[in-house]
Amino acid sequence: MSQLTVCAPLGVEARALRRGLADRHDHVQVTRTGYGPVRAAAAAARIAASAPDMLAVGGVAGGLTNDLRVGDLVVASEVTDGVTTVQCASAPLVAGELRRAGLRATAGPIVTVDRLVRGYEHAQLAATGAIAVDMESAPLLAGAAGSPAIVIRAISDTPAQPVFSPRIVPGGLAALRSLRQAAPVLARWAEAVAERHLLLASPRSFCAGVERAIEIVELALQRYGAPVYVRKQIVHNATVVADLEQAGAIFVDELGEVPDGAMVVFSAHGVSPEVRREAARRGLDAVDATCPLVAKVHAEARRFAADGYLVALIGHAGHEEVDGTLGEAPDAMALVETAGDVARLQPADPSKVAYLMQTTLAADEASGIADAITERFPGATGPGSDDICYATTNRQRAVRAIASRSDVVLVAGSVNSSNSQRLVETAQRAGTAAYLVDGAEDIQLGWLTGASTIGIAAGASAPPAIVGQIVAALGGLGEIQTEDVVVATESIQFGLPKELRQQAADLG
Ligand code: SF4
Repeated sequence: MSQLTVCAPLGVEARALRRGLADRHDHVQVTRTGYGPVRAAAAAARIAASAPDMLAVGGVAGGLTNDLRVGDLVVASEVTDGVTTVQCASAPLVAGELRRAGLRATAGPIVTVDRLVRGYEHAQLAATGAIAVDMESAPLLAGAAGSPAIVIRAISDTPAQPVFSPRIVPGGLAALRSLRQAAPVLARWAEAVAERHLLLASPRSFCAGVERAIEIVELALQRYGAPVYVRKQIVHNATVVADLEQAGAIFVDELGEVPDGAMVVFSAHGVSPEVRREAARRGLDAVDATCPLVAKVHAEARRFAADGYLVALIGHAGHEEVDGTLGEAPDAMALVETAGDVARLQPADPSKVAYLMQTTLAADEASGIADAITERFPGATGPGSDDICYATTNRQRAVRAIASRSDVVLVAGSVNSSNSQRLVETAQRAGTAAYLVDGAEDIQLGWLTGASTIGIAAGASAPPAIVGQIVAALGGLGEIQTEDVVVATESIQFGLPKELRQQAADLG
């Protein structure tokens, strides 16, 4: 088994790490490397000569930002000495693991200097983007000699509790305690280090409906200025919502939270006619970002209901798309979540039963329920064309293609994203362990241990950049080879609502 070399500049830091690693000494070598950059460089040269399998740096550091507290842990995303910058790509994995262990941890840049810094210098260093400062990490990282490396520093002083103050003693003790508690995570990181093959499911990430919905909010912000209110999450993704909030969007659950006369965008999942009527009654300036493929299902519901059918909607209770579609004809529709629900359908005329589907269902599950409907009502009518949309279908095919070849599948997407959840289930039904992650920090190191081929898929609402971050983080654990597994290519684009077309044209 590979050996982890842990560098700790001071004796007290080495002792804290050894205590934290109590039962892992077989594969871990904790080395006291000495105080300051000169001793660190000398130690790094010796370590590099031994060609370590992997290297970790652990110690205390000064915090540079006001949101860091004494005892917090900083995992270096990069380390610079002002001349050379070394990336530590697996930092988000370790920061996430530390937080799950109940510790306060942040991934961010660390700067190495050659002497203790005083108060006024904190601001200068913070202006470079660094969140912590130490005196050894940059030279020590040279000891990795190209092997995977990680740096964890525990904060012993902050701008509010500076190093030259009587409180440095309790600050140092708090930092050493955190360092000891962080040590088992270093061991788990070491167990996850490996060369890997990454299978990237394609298509993945944004579909045409999601791209259009995000563009609508961005254009509305440009045209009408902030704030722009959005009823419900524009798409079910935490990163997308956070980015748009930064830009001036305000997400609300109901129209009652939108001030009179304000601008409001309806989300990609669609709304019921009652919501549209309420917006009109309130004089709200509404722009509709409902995906045209959801709107198609609404139109089918209206048509079947007008023709006197009982419309069974196959979908999940509580999902916004389902609420919106059921609202088209509440008296003529019934939600069917499982094949068992079919027995409860009570049509006035058993020859007039129709069924529709939520657009983001798993195709195999939904068709099983549709079969149960046609078995009970042989004349039941389905949708004119598939309700499960092209993007959902393609992403499920893609995840099936990678699942059979993967030891584990990671699906980028938020927990409230139906189509992302269905991708996880699709991979699991193929017999492969699969997990939903909002970003690299959600990946548990234990999932990766022993996994040499990792499949990566992404739901239709997950930004492509998240997949890039996951790939980069896995690359920090060892060499990776990536392979795109393409099952379809997508070129569908949807037009914008008329209110924003000119705005888009003006922007070119
Ligand atoms: S997943 Fe399908 S229905 Fe939903 S927004 Fe994308 S294209 Fe439209």
